[in-house]
Amino acid sequence: KPRALSGIQPTADSFHFGNYLGALRQWVDLQDEYEPFFFIADQHAITVEQDPKVLRERCLVSAAQLIAMGIDPDKSAIFMQSHVPAHAQLGWVLQCLTGFGEARRMTQFKDKSAKGGEGAASVGLFTYPILQAADILLYRPAVVPVGEDQRQHLELTRDLAQRFNHRYKKTFRLPDPYILKATAKITDLQEPTAKMSKSASSPNGIINLLDDPKVSAKKIRSAVTDSGAEVRFDTEEKAGVSNLLTIYSALTGDSIASLEEKYEGRGYGDFKKELAEVVVEFVTPFRNRTLELLEDKATLNQVLASGAERAAAVAERTLADVYDRVGFVQPQ
Ligand code: ATP
Ligand code: MG
Repeated sequence: KPRALSGIQPTADSFHFGNYLGALRQWVDLQDEYEPFFFIADQHAITVEQDPKVLRERCLVSAAQLIAMGIDPDKSAIFMQSHVPAHAQLGWVLQCLTGFGEARRMTQFKDKSAKGGEGAASVGLFTYPILQAADILLYRPAVVPVGEDQRQHLELTRDLAQRFNHRYKKTFRLPDPYILKATAKITDLQEPTAKMSKSASSPNGIINLLDDPKVSAKKIRSAVTDSGAEVRFDTEEKAGVSNLLTIYSALTGDSIASLEEKYEGRGYGDFKKELAEVVVEFVTPFRNRTLELLEDKATLNQVLASGAERAAAVAERTLADVYDRVGFVQPQ
C-alpha cells in the first residue's frame, strides 16, 4: 500500500472544526487505501512558548482525539514527533539545503510572527516549514492530507525533495497534497474572512470538538452573519453564512444546494438554531469517547509506543540513505 503522512500540533486543549473538517476527517477515510503515519507535532509546538505541563497534557489529549474520531491504531501508526529523532535529524540536513530567501517567503511565518514582531519570533518558528518537509519526506508518502493553509509548505517540501534528488541521488518521493476543496478553509465564526485557528482565533470564533456542546451551540447561534436574510452560499457577499453552510453540509452530507432550498424564506435564526443542533449531535459522542480514552493512559501510551516503533523503522531507513548520500561516514 502507498503511504500517507500527516501531523497536527498539540497547541490547544482541543482540536477545532477547521482541523477536523479541513484535515483530520480525511485521515480517517485514508486508512483503507493507504498505510498511514499520523503524528502529534510536539516539536513544532515549541516554536512558540509552551507551558511544559500543559503541553504534555495536550499531547495526550490530541492522541485521544485522533482515536476517538476513528483513527484505528491497528491500521495507522499514531506517534509523537519527538519519539522519532529522525525528524529533527533530517530537518537539519534539509535546512542546509534551503535558501534563506526561500524560507523567508513562507507566509505562515509572516502571519504567525505578525503579533509580536519578527524580532521576537523564534528561529524555530522561521524554520518550521523545513522540519515539516523532513516530517513528510522521511516516509516517502504518496499523499499528505492537509488544509489549504499548508499548500505553500507542501510546495517547499516538493522543491527540497527535488533539489536533494537532483544534487545527490533519487532518494525522496515528491508527495502530493490531498486537500478537500469544499472544506479546505473553515473560517472564524466571528471574523468570517480569517481562518479558524487554534492560536489566532478568539474563543468565540472557534468551535472546539471538546468544548461543552452547549457552549458550541451558543457560538453557532451567535456567529457573525450579514445584514441580509437569505441563506445562500456566496463567499464574497456572505462569508459568514457560507462558512456555516460548509460546516452544515460537511456534518450532514446534505449538499449546499439542498440546504439553501431547505432554508429558503426562513431567515438566519432558524438556520443557525438547526445547525447548532447538528453540531451538538456530532460533538457529544466524540467528546465522551475522548474522555473515556483519557481515563486509560497506559493503553494510550502503548498505542504511542507501537506507533513510534513502526514510524522509526521507516524513518531510520530513509535517514540512513540521506546520511550516506551527503557524505557522512557510516558509524562502524
Ligand atoms: P496553529 O494556530 O497552532 O497553527 P491550526 O489551527 O493552524 O493551529 P494546525 O495544527 O497547524 O492547526 O493544523 C492541523 C491541520 O488542520 C492542518 O492540516 C491544517 O491545514 C488544518 N487546518 C487548520 N486550520 C484550518 C482551517 N481553518 N480550515 C481548514 N483546515 C485547517
Ligand atoms: Mg497551523
